Amino acid sequence: MNRSGILGAKIERLKKELGNNATLVAVSKYHPASDIIAAYEAGHRDFGESRVQELKEKSEKLKDEGIDDICWHFIGHLQTNKVNHLLRIQNLRFIHSIDSMKLLMELYRKKEYFEGEDLGYFLQVKTSDEEEKYGFQGIDSLREALNFIVEQPKGGPYLHGLMTMGKIRTDDFEGDARAAFKKLVCIKQELLRDYSTFDLALSMGMSQDYKMAVSEGSDFVRVGGAIFGQD
Ligand SMILES: *Cc1c(COP(=O)(O)O)cnc(C)c1O
Repeated sequence: MNRSGILGAKIERLKKELGNNATLVAVSKYHPASDIIAAYEAGHRDFGESRVQELKEKSEKLKDEGIDDICWHFIGHLQTNKVNHLLRIQNLRFIHSIDSMKLLMELYRKKEYFEGEDLGYFLQVKTSDEEEKYGFQGIDSLREALNFIVEQPKGGPYLHGLMTMGKIRTDDFEGDARAAFKKLVCIKQELLRDYSTFDLALSMGMSQDYKMAVSEGSDFVRVGGAIFGQD
């Protein structure tokens, strides 16, 4: 089987598992643009990247191939001084990783750089106690973000939902991942009680824990290794 056939079969299998419940974002970071093209040829359209420069280079390569209907998801930590570079990338559709008030404000400050139709974003929430992870922590910081968002003029970027990651370094990977996902569901419900005009989707689940994430109600899973890795 060629690369497109191999990737296509893995993606098909994953999509069958997800059913109609969740969108599969194929995380292509560290993998060559040729892999994205192979998966694209198998019919996939949603791809995730975690670095602005890498996404920029790949998006240009794909454009050169005549591919103009891809759907880019930015999923990595974003530095405020790179927001304008990210927003200029064609076919950017979602940012999953708005992880601080500062970055949220910068997104709106730079919104004119975005020339596409729709730009949805997720607030990244810290649901575990791992030190190095970025994200909003605690319901009050999210309320502050939502209070800011409701004040913004319509027609720009819009809040699509909440994102989180399970704990990475842990002896109880499954238990901790499920706890993180349950926590995000609770946070969503608590926020919707006060901000009923929002409709918050959930971005949670990676190669190792997407099944659990979907069973907890995830709407977007971000899967890299299980598609592009060996096996
Ligand atoms: C790399 C990455 C993923 C995909 O991880 P895999 O384990 O390869 O599936 C998902 N989400 C984020 C934020 C990532 O950085």
